Amino acid sequence: MKQTFFETEIVKIINETSTTRRYFFSVVAKDKFEYKAGQFVMLQLDINAKIPYRSYSIASTPDGSNQFELIIVLNPPGAGTPFIWDNFEVGSKVMCAGPIGKFVLPEYIHHDLCFICTGTGIAPLRSMLWHIINNKIQHHRIYFVFGARTKDDLLYYEEMVELTEKHKSVHFIPVLSRETSETWNGRIGYVHQVYEDIFSNKRPAEFFICGWSAMLKEARERLALLGYPKEHIHFERYD
Ligand SMILES: Cc1cc2nc3c(=O)[nH]c(=O)nc-3n(C[C@H](O)[C@H](O)[C@H](O)COP(=O)(O)OP(=O)(O)OC[C@H]3O[C@@H](n4cnc5c(N)ncnc54)[C@H](O)[C@@H]3O)c2cc1C
Repeated sequence: MKQTFFETEIVKIINETSTTRRYFFSVVAKDKFEYKAGQFVMLQLDINAKIPYRSYSIASTPDGSNQFELIIVLNPPGAGTPFIWDNFEVGSKVMCAGPIGKFVLPEYIHHDLCFICTGTGIAPLRSMLWHIINNKIQHHRIYFVFGARTKDDLLYYEEMVELTEKHKSVHFIPVLSRETSETWNGRIGYVHQVYEDIFSNKRPAEFFICGWSAMLKEARERLALLGYPKEHIHFERYD
């Protein structure tokens, strides 16, 4: 589908980790940027590549303003992210299209939700979680399983811990694959063992999975083996 691009301006940048940045955009000609939690935008980049666009899930949640947030990890051999690192600064104008995508919450939440993500795959799920909380949307338990390599790679960590403390229905379970520090007393391993433990009794649940294809493929296969129907497994693939 042909996309219409509009102008945005970068208003803030936060270095979240050594390789991941949060970019805050403001839509120049609009007072309000409407999107659904879970959707993504496309950025037009001035790069010498066959496709000069890159997609990014919106990490913020709709709040009636004209602003939105993206969280982007640097891929050094890539064409797009090194350009973003070198060129995007506060005040930069960026052409953007969207919102796009069908990776969104159902109208009514009938079951427990399980969000499964690694790295910047947290973006659309963070948006959905805040959407549910901010709008007091009726829900059951929400399990937020977030995989990263080490403690230093955890994104939005303090925010998620605080949110979990305030909202008893939300269970945030970070799981680290390469952490060796003894100060980490959370889970070690991969996301798969975590949701398999929680849902080993195969109770009704709806799954939202986001990240790179290897993790996604494995999660979809494992959930199918547990007996969950395709209609209850939603996913957004980054590659
Ligand atoms: C719907 C959608 C939403 C997305 N949302 C986000 C987001 O919120 N944040 C974000 O950082 N990225 C997101 N991406 C990925 C993003 O669009 C780019 O692919 C990514 O930023 C790499 O761009 P690049 O130009 O630097 O590398 P490219 O030159 O496009 O990448 C080269 C190759 O490396 C692969 N690759 C790139 N980065 C990684 C990685 N970290 N792990 C594994 N393989 C990788 C790509 O699939 C590609 O095959 C999303 C992609 C899609 C389709």
